[in-house]
Amino acid sequence: MTISQLYSQSRKLLTHETADFDLSQLFHAHFGKRPGLIQPQEQASTEDVFIFNHKVKRLTDGYPLQYLLGEWEFYSVPLKVGEGVLIPRPDTETVVDTAISMLNGVESPVVADLCAGSGAISLALALNVKNVSVWAVELYDEAIFYLDTNIIASGYDHIISRSKQDVLDKLELPQLDMIVSNPPYLTAKEMEEIPTQVSFEPATALDGGEDGLKFYNAITQQARLLLKPNGAIVFECGYEQAGQISEILAKYGFYDIKVYKDLGKNDRCVCGIAP
Ligand code: GLN
Repeated sequence: MTISQLYSQSRKLLTHETADFDLSQLFHAHFGKRPGLIQPQEQASTEDVFIFNHKVKRLTDGYPLQYLLGEWEFYSVPLKVGEGVLIPRPDTETVVDTAISMLNGVESPVVADLCAGSGAISLALALNVKNVSVWAVELYDEAIFYLDTNIIASGYDHIISRSKQDVLDKLELPQLDMIVSNPPYLTAKEMEEIPTQVSFEPATALDGGEDGLKFYNAITQQARLLLKPNGAIVFECGYEQAGQISEILAKYGFYDIKVYKDLGKNDRCVCGIAP
């Protein structure tokens, strides 16, 4: 079988909206070139056919492209990803944009990224904030594996300190200029109705308890002790949660509470300033 035939055969099996993009990415990762650059007579080995067909089958099952590729870009940073860690989403760029703009003018800021996962936020800040120090806090070993890999691969391991802690317990951290967090925030109902693609991602990174707010309460409750006066908290939130999270921040004395939308025009980021 030629590689072109393998491509056309695979394309026919895929019907979902992003099929062309997904197949082209998978193809490039496997054969090292774009489908259009394959010579008509180039042959696919039996092994190529077997492995490629297997990956295409996984895509038809709704398995995430990002896990099949093993790598995904966030904020122009390539990150290793796989089962056990949340796939970085473009929505989270709003959180990074907000954090970067709020750190503008802060001398040598110390930031904690709570529930750091793959390290998407930590790395984006390390690369874009002058003289920053980042504490990347994560609890689960499956995610820590990717976090450590990504920190080391970035060459920013002198800027990012990885710390294994549970944010639901009392955190041990230095005094901070900012807490930034994309915690698990799906409600119990949303967890029951989870889309197939998301179902392959770790529940520990998604499940925010009955009302989806468990982590916001726990983090905000201790944020005042962790933050310097006028330090900032920047949360990612579910599209219907901005109001409730603003209330949690207000309850613990945070002021200047603001909500920002993602590129899809959904409320995605809530931030506030510590008293
Ligand atoms: N944005 C993710 C989703 O909607 C949830 C991520 C999270 O819980 N932090 O699937």
